[in-house]
Amino acid sequence: MLTLSKKCDSCNNVYNSKVSSKTIKCDKCKKERFFFHSKNLIFERCSFCNCKEFYKRKDFNQKLGCLFVLIGSLLLPFTYGISLVFVLIIDMIFYKYVDEVIVCYKCKMEFRGFKKISKSIKLFDHHTAELYDKY
Ligand SMILES: [Zn+2]
Ligand SMILES: [Zn+2]
Repeated sequence: MLTLSKKCDSCNNVYNSKVSSKTIKCDKCKKERFFFHSKNLIFERCSFCNCKEFYKRKDFNQKLGCLFVLIGSLLLPFTYGISLVFVLIIDMIFYKYVDEVIVCYKCKMEFRGFKKISKSIKLFDHHTAELYDKY
């Protein structure tokens, strides 16, 4: 299933929506709403901010990663350091199977559920991000 999530500009709530629905709105304040057009699915333009650039990143849960490391370090004295190696391996396997998310540089809208991501979408680039950074 294709879904998108975005942080609302007016209330900071992160909302999720199915890509199949045409009008997407913040479920909390309902102030932010926009029309989703299918052009978005080939990532020519962002439906919300018209930005033309996207990047991809691993949809990796950082908290889960930290938890692994924590467990690994707790077990460290009992396993003579083997647990850390183990954690690293789990981490690597995990990383490989984790899906990629496509993110809009400007409004940070995230798209999930795309099995094949177009080659034109590159990994996060700081220089490009700086151009869009509002702060
Ligand atoms: Zn809102
Ligand atoms: Zn955008």
